[in-house]
Amino acid sequence: MTADDLPFDNSFAELPPAFYTRLMPTPLPAPYFVAASSQAAALAGLDPAALSQEDFVAVFSGNHVPPRSQPLSAVYSGHQFGHWAGQLGDGRAILLGELSGPAGPMELQLKGAGMTPYSRMGDGRAVLRSSIREFLCSEAMAALGIPTTRALMLTGSHQQVVRETIETASVVTRMAPSFVRFGSFEHWHYRGKQEELRTLADYVIRNFYPELQGAENPYLELLAEVTRRTARMIAHWQAVGFMHGVMNTDNMSILGLTLDYGPFGFMEAFDVDHICNHTDQGGRYSYSNQVPVGHWNCYALANALLPLIQDKDAAEAALDGYVDAYGDKFDELMHAKLGLSTTQESDMRVADRALFDAMFKLMHENHVDFTLFFRRLGDMRIADRAEADAPLRDLFLDRPGFDAWAVEYRARLRREGSLDAVRREAMARVNPKYVLRNYLAQTAIEKAQNGDFSEVHKLLAILEHPFDEQAENEAYAALPPDWASHLEVSCSS
Ligand code: AMP
Ligand code: MG
Repeated sequence: MTADDLPFDNSFAELPPAFYTRLMPTPLPAPYFVAASSQAAALAGLDPAALSQEDFVAVFSGNHVPPRSQPLSAVYSGHQFGHWAGQLGDGRAILLGELSGPAGPMELQLKGAGMTPYSRMGDGRAVLRSSIREFLCSEAMAALGIPTTRALMLTGSHQQVVRETIETASVVTRMAPSFVRFGSFEHWHYRGKQEELRTLADYVIRNFYPELQGAENPYLELLAEVTRRTARMIAHWQAVGFMHGVMNTDNMSILGLTLDYGPFGFMEAFDVDHICNHTDQGGRYSYSNQVPVGHWNCYALANALLPLIQDKDAAEAALDGYVDAYGDKFDELMHAKLGLSTTQESDMRVADRALFDAMFKLMHENHVDFTLFFRRLGDMRIADRAEADAPLRDLFLDRPGFDAWAVEYRARLRREGSLDAVRREAMARVNPKYVLRNYLAQTAIEKAQNGDFSEVHKLLAILEHPFDEQAENEAYAALPPDWASHLEVSCSS
């Protein structure tokens, strides 16, 4: 298959023209291949080996539009940092259309493909640095089992792009069943356009929530389900120490997928109030705030959908579902992370929460590395064996504090008759050894900026199997080096 044979459809393009602007991507000079994800390619029914060919590089850098593609940029609005921001829209993203793979249609979107009517003050471009981060993190999150948009491919060009310094342009091809956001609905609500609001809701339900079509109030069910999915997504983030950085409503997926990777971060030294985005001075999107902010964002969606739902009390009840959906998912994930397989009895659940809270408190007070802690916890034996505990215990300055917690944890394990070997294996399947630490991304970025993409490839390969030991890649599981303590990520991308 050549790139011109790509069998694009575009269901979004069948919506009325008010929802988007049809336009061509802006070509880049001499585009080159940086990387591709073979797992994402499989989802789109593509041959990963073909992606580095010239014709595919031309398509996925925006230099050539295949005949069946109907490129467009979508309009949306949103709340940014808690304030209504008005119209935003795809300021640098262009949807090529959808390809059908084993999991159904996947939209392919070029991010950084040039100016659109929604670019506002922006240049329509994305830099190599931020595109590498988005590419790697999308695929890393998917491998961690966290709902996310995917990244198919990364291309670059020597074209200069001005940020804090001069950087070069890149295009990341993202994939998701849909890129509709909470802000897509807010857009019509705030303009008082009920017909468009309904059209969009019907489109989303028909294509992505067909099971809701027969419901008495499908819009209410849509709100309830999106609320639950959002809550569960955030439970996943909390359980792996992921921080999104910019949880504005225009970055909240109507499918409950992690969307728009900018100044994200994975928790290293645990600080429950950690802020990963240097631009977020108030800490609105700190680690601990992600949970209430996710709920707040669902309120913004509910507000937009209310003219369709028409029942305020029912909408509020749907929003209340956030708390249980979050709590249940987080509970389930934490039990798995601690290797606990019994949760049924409610008194045990209450006791388990106290065990988790004490653990997080200790981790916070001791600035324990989030990923290393859970990974090493799997090596703990039920019989008190100091030598087996040492790598875990050494993460804490407060050793007596750790020892006291370990007594409780061991008692809990004994109560359910936990077996060391079984638990160890189960925990290694849920507590990743490898996450995209900022310093790892930074190393790959610096090499790539010098024309060497090998570290991007290497990191992708490692992060595709985050739970495997990969003894040869031990160094990639290490604590950040000293130089990395000065790394800052901001909204600049
Ligand atoms: P973000 O904070 O990346 O989610 O972006 C917020 C809004 O700004 C969206 O409408 C983006 O499309 C737009 N935007 C961000 N960067 C650029 C850029 N370089 N050029 C045009 N629009 C941009
Ligand atoms: Mg965005």
